[in-house]
Amino acid sequence: MIKNFEQEYLKAKSELTMLYEIGNAMHTTLNLEEILYIILTSVTSHIGLSFNRAMLFLFNEKENSLEGKMGIGPDSTEEAGEVWTHIEKHNLGFNELIETHSQVEHLKKSNLNKVIQSIKLPVTEESGVLALTIMEGMPFIITTEEARKRTRNSLIEQLKLEEFVTVPLKARDKTIGLIVADNLFNKKSINADDIRMLTTFANQAGLAIENSRLYERTVVFANSDSLTGLWHHGYFQYLLGEEIKRSEARKEKFTVLMTDIDDFKKFNDSFGHQAGDAILRCISGIFKEASRKIDIVARYGGEEFVFILPGANKEEALVAAERLRVSVEKNPYMKGITISIGVASYPDDAEEKELLISKADKALYKAKETGKNKVCG
Ligand code: GH3
Ligand code: MG
Ligand code: MG
Repeated sequence: MIKNFEQEYLKAKSELTMLYEIGNAMHTTLNLEEILYIILTSVTSHIGLSFNRAMLFLFNEKENSLEGKMGIGPDSTEEAGEVWTHIEKHNLGFNELIETHSQVEHLKKSNLNKVIQSIKLPVTEESGVLALTIMEGMPFIITTEEARKRTRNSLIEQLKLEEFVTVPLKARDKTIGLIVADNLFNKKSINADDIRMLTTFANQAGLAIENSRLYERTVVFANSDSLTGLWHHGYFQYLLGEEIKRSEARKEKFTVLMTDIDDFKKFNDSFGHQAGDAILRCISGIFKEASRKIDIVARYGGEEFVFILPGANKEEALVAAERLRVSVEKNPYMKGITISIGVASYPDDAEEKELLISKADKALYKAKETGKNKVCG
């Protein structure tokens, strides 16, 4: 009797310590990717909940869909063996496992992660147990063959799910996603304790995700220009500084484009300031549409916009700038409005922030002086 009590006590104590450690780890960052990685490492690591695999999906409320975000776990039995031996041999603790370095390496190679990120499914009863977890806000434990048959669909086949558990991720009273976990490789059966721990943990995890998303939204809102939704001048300055540091470290080039609308004062005088504002909104849309995901676009001033094109050298940037110029000129909503663009590259034109901007500005001035509606570099 006393022995049992002692065992229970020790178990509860180690569970609490573990949840406490994971909780602390989740507070070390507000970056969503990093949080997801910490969550899934907690579910899979031997010091954590020690499932073989864990997959995380987030609920997209607007589209009523479930989107796969990250999957952690070996892709094969051999890899599972290798990973476990490696962890044991090097006596890796939780903190070592969640280091950003191992995160990037692991996710780049993982086939599971690739598959998970390609998944998007509607949240309806027909979509199966994953969607039901969101709809009911309850965990599902699929252990018996019978239950498995009822939940069988292509997704379950694709993920090779046999015995598995799903738990909703909750933030306050909303279900924001779910975790799927299984023991595909060591075939350890999932017991009530595992599920209780996973559910307790999922509540913590849901809040951490929600906080990170709120934070990211706040950062975007606080650093955006209210008319166009592009980054504002101050944040552009910060981003340019970061880009210089990054490019310096990696010995890479990047290019800045400085853009100014031609004769915009005349447009305002003829059609009014509100029509002018509409043009600014429209041109921002064109700029966003025309840029790559890694490009940065900001509203530099009134009718001046600035781009950072990471990795682009002068020639490439001149081509991109010319394409931009034409897409404004050809856009029917722009009512004949044109732009001039000045181009300056890091590190060839300048290595330092202010000088780089001033070089792009000089090139823009040249474009204006020599007839407008053109690109100069
Ligand atoms: P240029 O071809 O030399 O650029 O001639 P410009 O008339 O465009 O001159 P400039 O670049 O100095 O543009 C300043 C004008 O841009 C003044 C103002 O009428 C207009 N402008 C600046 N900010 C805004 C804004 O937020 N809304 C509107 N509607 N117009 C703006
Ligand atoms: Mg101007
Ligand atoms: Mg102008």
